[in-house]
Amino acid sequence: RQLVSDQSRKIRLLMELRQGGISDTQVLSAIERLPREMFVSDVFEGQAYENSALPIAHGQTISQPFVVAFMTQALEIGPRMKVLEIGTGSGYQTAVLAQLCRRVYTIERYRSLLAEAESRFVALRLHNITAIARDGYQGWPEQAPFLRIMVTAAAEEIPDALVAQLDVGGIMIVPVGDQGGQEILRVEKTEKGIDARSLLPVRFVPLVE
Ligand code: SAH
Repeated sequence: RQLVSDQSRKIRLLMELRQGGISDTQVLSAIERLPREMFVSDVFEGQAYENSALPIAHGQTISQPFVVAFMTQALEIGPRMKVLEIGTGSGYQTAVLAQLCRRVYTIERYRSLLAEAESRFVALRLHNITAIARDGYQGWPEQAPFLRIMVTAAAEEIPDALVAQLDVGGIMIVPVGDQGGQEILRVEKTEKGIDARSLLPVRFVPLVE
């Protein structure tokens, strides 16, 4: 019974994402394949397919499905790319990315969140994810450069170390601002520097150094 209602809630959520402007069918199918209820605690399981952010441990949140879809679509991922993600959290966004690219390198500052996320990746047989617990502000220099970087916590400014690890022609999607107001930026690295434009006002937990 639970499965049937989850399925119909999921279909309703996907319709809502489409109506909100998510048109990339790869992104929509990646979301359709994932059981979001596995990424939230038991008390929130009933809300897993509502289009809202939900609390996870350590005062963090699993992002709103629309924001996950929007940021993933904006990243314009190709199947052969490796993607760097900062802020693993529940691992939900990571699991969406992993279905669209060759490998995801993901960084989380809380070891316990990372351990839980990693057990979900194993359960879901997502084997193209490499995860590490450390400060994402520093990026992952050993694996740089990246053609794609996604940050899922709000930085006060565009992090320089991450720009440095972006390939020329590469794209970074990053929420920037303080608790008063943030916006998702699309940052493209060019020969001359960076080209940044604002895509959407949002509210994320802060990126903490
Ligand atoms: N993408 C996640 C959203 C998690 S919220 C999901 O789908 O569930 C943002 C996450 O960024 C939190 O888990 C927080 O602990 C983490 N974070 C904050 N600052 C960080 C830093 N400097 N390095 C790595 N992770 C960080």
